[in-house]
Amino acid sequence: MAAKDFIELEEKYGAHNYHPLDVVIERGEGVWVYDVEGKKYLDFLSAYSAVNQGHCHPRLVKTMCDQAGKLTLTSRAFRNDKLGAFLQSVAELTGMEMVLPMNSGAEAVETVIKAVRKWGYTRKKVADNKAEIIVCSNNFHGRTTTIISFTTEKQYQEGFGPLTPGFKVVPYNDITALEAAINENTVAFLVEPIQGEGGIIVPDDGYLKKAGDLCKKHNVLLVLDEIQTGLGRTGRMFAYQYEDGVEPDALILGKALSGGMYPVSCVAARKEVLGVFNPGDHGSTFGGNPLGAAVAVEALNILKDERLPLKAAELGDYFMKSLRDIPSSYIKDVRGRGLLIGVELTDEAGGARRFCEALENEGLLCKETHDNVIRFAPPLVIRKEDIDWALERISKILTSL
Ligand SMILES: *Cc1c(COP(=O)(O)O)cnc(C)c1O
Repeated sequence: MAAKDFIELEEKYGAHNYHPLDVVIERGEGVWVYDVEGKKYLDFLSAYSAVNQGHCHPRLVKTMCDQAGKLTLTSRAFRNDKLGAFLQSVAELTGMEMVLPMNSGAEAVETVIKAVRKWGYTRKKVADNKAEIIVCSNNFHGRTTTIISFTTEKQYQEGFGPLTPGFKVVPYNDITALEAAINENTVAFLVEPIQGEGGIIVPDDGYLKKAGDLCKKHNVLLVLDEIQTGLGRTGRMFAYQYEDGVEPDALILGKALSGGMYPVSCVAARKEVLGVFNPGDHGSTFGGNPLGAAVAVEALNILKDERLPLKAAELGDYFMKSLRDIPSSYIKDVRGRGLLIGVELTDEAGGARRFCEALENEGLLCKETHDNVIRFAPPLVIRKEDIDWALERISKILTSL
């Protein structure tokens, strides 16, 4: 079958809730993927930072296959011999006391919303059904009905009401607005250390520390969504670690937690937060399954063994500097941290999509975010030679299109 046949099939039977580039990938290895016609591409999206460890990392493939032949699912009705080690790995990596495993990122966000609300009612003594969670404009936390209730992206919300109440939106990177929004019913501040889908928006130095201090002062939980920024992507294990003294009460992880092998997400938090759940309060049939747990332990070990956060920091610096040197009148801003980089284009550029399509032709896969930003986020196992290969093509497209 040719690429166009695969595309036709997908368009005919699939709901049209995505607008992908028309590349049909059949195989991946490290930073490279191959389409059904044998053409090779450098993956500069990493499935939105889910394949930080690279496509089909041999250690992950082995763990996955070994575990798949042994035991895959027990449900939490019974215990399994892989879950405990997974929870321990995440707790040790995050410095948190308790972990609750889920599958998708959105489910982990839903989990934390339930946890902080119940914490509010049982610990902070907020009046029944009055709990408020503060979030930021331009946020992205997932696509469930509750989560889209507090998006500021019109399209994510329109046609999907009625919405879930209990959320207050403040501008990102605005401490004064945050302080003004806090009241006796505020249970948590939910925020991304860098807004990924929002266009790779990096807040001012000190923002998270000040936000955390405010939260402490007002008995509000600081919840960081590190689903995209965490696990090495930004050049630290977690993006919040760029600032000293930030002490989140809960962290939300997903995406690279399984290196793209399998949906695994979790909330890692202080005991006071996740301790509010009693048997029956929350759950998921697949959450904490032995296959996902085994893969996640290995995925985290790879991040540490291959020192991927450090690689992201070093190569990210080099890549960002080189991008800034490209003499293109279309470039308005280059920003990011580690290997999470956004190139914002000027209005004259005519949108980022056509650049992504041109780069696809050159053998480089990336995706626009917010119409005028090209996001570059290769797997963290990338080498300097590969970055140079990409830079040649990016430079060509940004100066010739
Ligand atoms: C991707 C993402 C989510 C949602 O994760 P899914 O696995 O797609 O549900 C939530 N928050 C952030 C910051 C993300 O990047």
